[in-house]
Amino acid sequence: MKYGIIGLTLVFVLGSSAVFLAEGEPAPPQRPRNVVKTEREWSKQLSPAQYLVTRQKHTEPAYSGKYVHNKAKGVYHCVCCEAELFSSGTKFESGTGWPSFWRPIAADSIDNEPDYSMAEPRVEVMCNNCGAHLGHVFSDGPPPTGLRFCINSLSLKFAPEAQTASPKAKAKTGSALSKAKASKEATKPKPDTKTPAPEGDKPKPEAKSPK
Ligand SMILES: [Zn+2]
Repeated sequence: MKYGIIGLTLVFVLGSSAVFLAEGEPAPPQRPRNVVKTEREWSKQLSPAQYLVTRQKHTEPAYSGKYVHNKAKGVYHCVCCEAELFSSGTKFESGTGWPSFWRPIAADSIDNEPDYSMAEPRVEVMCNNCGAHLGHVFSDGPPPTGLRFCINSLSLKFAPEAQTASPKAKAKTGSALSKAKASKEATKPKPDTKTPAPEGDKPKPEAKSPK
């Protein structure tokens, strides 16, 4: 029932995009994001070019991005929210001028949606954590998936493998890391927690006399 209401609300909110749904298809997975910021907050945090690509769905010019020819080992994170998106192990030279991957780092790290903004329908790829526009996915990629995730460098932030602690180093700094993680968890704001309004000022309903 809860999902039914959400679905109905989405159809209402999305308006025109809902007409593209095939009959019997559920509403598009416009899932609530873990990281939600206003356009003003995003524009402050990002460079103008990063903002245009990730929040306004622009595409960087081919071969203009800094990761097109990056062959270093490591993990590509979302430039907006730092979520892990792609591993260097799945990057390949597509010859398109954009960093290309044949698989995201995890199935739930990305979200996708049909994109009808051009004559040829495409499938848009977004960061599942914050909704950032990343690029598009095509079905002309290499094995084993046959997919080509065509991603803007501007929406990515590469962390070389050397920066990732080796198991040995991890063991040494384990306690420090877990402490840091714990304090991070503790200070994490909880958007769902609402401060209850003070009751004191509210007029109290008239007391009924006992029968
Ligand atoms: Zn993100």
